Amino acid sequence: MPRFPDYHIHTFMCGHAVGGAEEYAEAAVELGLSEIGFAEHIPMYWLPVDERDPTIAMPMSRLAEYVETVLSLRERFRDRLTIRLGVEADYVPGCEEELIAMLGDYPWDYVYGSVHYIGDWGFDNPEYRDRYDEWDLNELYEAYFTRVQAAAATGLFDVMGHLDVIKKWGHRPDQAPTAVFEATAVELARCDVVVEANTAGYSKPVNELYPSGELLSALVRQGVRFTLGSDAHAPGEVGRDFEAALAELTTLGVTELVRFEGRRTTEYSIAPHD
Ligand code: ZN
Ligand code: FE
Ligand code: FE
Ligand code: ZN
Repeated sequence: MPRFPDYHIHTFMCGHAVGGAEEYAEAAVELGLSEIGFAEHIPMYWLPVDERDPTIAMPMSRLAEYVETVLSLRERFRDRLTIRLGVEADYVPGCEEELIAMLGDYPWDYVYGSVHYIGDWGFDNPEYRDRYDEWDLNELYEAYFTRVQAAAATGLFDVMGHLDVIKKWGHRPDQAPTAVFEATAVELARCDVVVEANTAGYSKPVNELYPSGELLSALVRQGVRFTLGSDAHAPGEVGRDFEAALAELTTLGVTELVRFEGRRTTEYSIAPHD
């Protein structure tokens, strides 16, 4: 079984994951992966410092330490595992300058763009799940994917994380929002942003890959490129369900994935006999 890079790994630094970076790296080696990347939650740059929740994202005081940790681990694992430095950055409209400042001049291999908020509503947080009831689901999907498209259009992100995470708890419009999916795929292709096949969705109430179904097909049809991520919040989750994600992608005709280094992409083949 081929083992492809897992680019979406958290650590205890975000306040809601367990284990240090080294434990995740060891888990990856044990699995037979040859490459991983960390994508810790970026400090909540859009909020005043005293309103940033240390159980949602790493505090700013940890950012330099996070980078240092990953870079030194890269040296220590040099012969066993390629380790990339990434970050999971929320997209918050109107706060682009603050994001750029937070990213600083650290040597990122990639920056994830993730939408976790609509206004001040952190919809993927179990605490605020009730607020789905306030929405017409068609309007909610439209609002969410409009934000995803706007994120891609900023050009600030290399890869979009868990693209349809709005479905996390199983809330969906009665009719698949085909036009919204199509427009999203067209815009992401235009922006040439990579999309993550995020396997955490298989372990959530929705029990599906992020993205899946009509959206995933539309992305493939538009020629969008993909990468794999487990969104591991515990060392045992590294590389989880990659076989299932690869099966979905190859069924749709995807033959290559991308790898990141220094915010540049190269393709690699996922064809079984290649
Ligand atoms: Zn997280
Ligand atoms: Fe996320
Ligand atoms: Fe994540
Ligand atoms: Zn995530």
